[in-house]
Amino acid sequence: MKKRKILIPMPRSRFYKVVCKNCGAENVIFSHATYPARCKVCGTQVVEPTGGRSKVINAEVVSELG
Ligand SMILES: [Zn+2]
Repeated sequence: MKKRKILIPMPRSRFYKVVCKNCGAENVIFSHATYPARCKVCGTQVVEPTGGRSKVINAEVVSELG
């Protein structure tokens, strides 16, 4: 009998600091956001949730946190 090795996915989530392309405000977003995060200043959607890693839209990642 073969023993199947189960690979446990390690959490590779982190926080990103992004700059909104619309107003230039800094926002801290979660890299695996499951919700469409919006800019805290102008309300532009900056993160698009996908199956895994979220996609940064309308914003630029300036640094990674933690
Ligand atoms: Zn904005």
